Amino acid sequence: MAESRKVAVIGAGVAGLVTARELQRSGHKVTVFEKSNQLGGTWAYNPKIETDPLGLDPNREIIHSSLYKSLRTNLPRQLMSFSDYPFNNENGKLINFPGHEEVLKFLTEFAKDFGITELIRFNSEVVRVGRVEYEEDGWVVELKSDELSSEEKVFDSVVICNGHYTIPKVANIPGINNWPGKQMHSHNYRVPEPFKDQIVVVIGDGPSGLDISRDIATVAKQVHLSTRSSDTEVSKLDNSANLWNHSKIDRANESGEVIFLDGSSIHADIILHCTGYKYDFPFLETNGIVCVDDNRVGPLYKHVFPPKLSPCLSFVGIPYQTIIFLMFELQTKWIAQVLSGKVLLPSEEEMLTDVEDHNMHLEVAGIPKHHTHRLHPREMEYMDWLAAQVGMPPVGASLKEMYWSLYKFVGEVGFSSYRDLWDFYSINSDA
Ligand code: FAD
Repeated sequence: MAESRKVAVIGAGVAGLVTARELQRSGHKVTVFEKSNQLGGTWAYNPKIETDPLGLDPNREIIHSSLYKSLRTNLPRQLMSFSDYPFNNENGKLINFPGHEEVLKFLTEFAKDFGITELIRFNSEVVRVGRVEYEEDGWVVELKSDELSSEEKVFDSVVICNGHYTIPKVANIPGINNWPGKQMHSHNYRVPEPFKDQIVVVIGDGPSGLDISRDIATVAKQVHLSTRSSDTEVSKLDNSANLWNHSKIDRANESGEVIFLDGSSIHADIILHCTGYKYDFPFLETNGIVCVDDNRVGPLYKHVFPPKLSPCLSFVGIPYQTIIFLMFELQTKWIAQVLSGKVLLPSEEEMLTDVEDHNMHLEVAGIPKHHTHRLHPREMEYMDWLAAQVGMPPVGASLKEMYWSLYKFVGEVGFSSYRDLWDFYSINSDA
């Protein structure tokens, strides 16, 4: 008979919601703890920003979501659906890239339709997760319900779904301490208006940097986008009058100059770091069994289970660069079945060896430690592996084709216009 466990899920973002659904479907008793007063996590846009725009002051009040007002999804809605719950557009047109409001609506309906909303305890920040001393498998979850009170609850298992797009990583720029301008991280970017008539340097050409530099260029005097590469030559972007592409920053100086490796320099007002985020589990007490080292969370078997603490502790949503919502769903189906005793994990030693092999493979391939959880270009291998654990068929060929075709299309038409030009069925008329 399948086992039923009492499980705590930390966070009611996409990962927490789909985890709760899969655990409940498998007969587990689930409580979701959410520190804010609403579900959706990243997708709950918050116009407020933190007191330290760079996000480094340890005493700041942390705002969770990093969404900017103009954000449209970077994946089409079919690649943000669950396997049995499509993210349909109200007028029936399936492929486009909606604004963030629609994603939040989709998630709210998902939670309602599967009876997840009633499993969530809102305004319940988890401040400590640790082993119960007298019980082999138990976990104590300590909650801060309000400023004055806290409470402890005991669970058989804990699934961590707290997201990893909140704690900023900033670029290291020689001379920055004497540079007189302002600095900000994209975590605290919402709207372009404060940048009116300013000269802005945006660091990072990931999706946020590419979106935000164009958003700001609508009002700024000049925007200079600095990429990671050292050999990019300074050039105009999108034929826009006030947007330039540059190489990496070489240094900044006390007279306000930002000097790029391409030899150009600019007297800038603001540097905006679109340089990514750090994994952070401030509540997790494992006596050093699970650590974050240079953005590697580990050791984690297949990015989900810490071998020594499995199956009672697991993580959903750690890897990136894939079909994210579907990966969350597959990870949580696996966790649910492992907790039910229907699927067995390898021994602790075998799992540790697998993690070590993975890390060794990265090292040999010259992939830096901080990219441990980046799946690309082997994302489909990972997804199919997860599906196989729970007896599901591999990710559908048409979904895979859509995903790879999108990659190619963005490369062909450029980031600024792919969302408006993309029409999978006319681009791939055989699909
Ligand atoms: P989150 O959405 O971050 O949710 C975590 C939840 O945990 C939050 O509600 C938080 O309040 C709660 N929490 C955290 N700590 C605690 C605690 N101690 N106690 C209780 N609750 C806690 N993905 C896509 O598929 N398509 C896109 O187009 C896309 N665009 C993106 C754009 C931006 C700017 C960013 C930052 C991300 C984007 N992503 C996109 C990735 C996105 O993060 C995922 O889609 C998804 O939202 C991650 O869900 P999550 O549940 O893992 O984390």
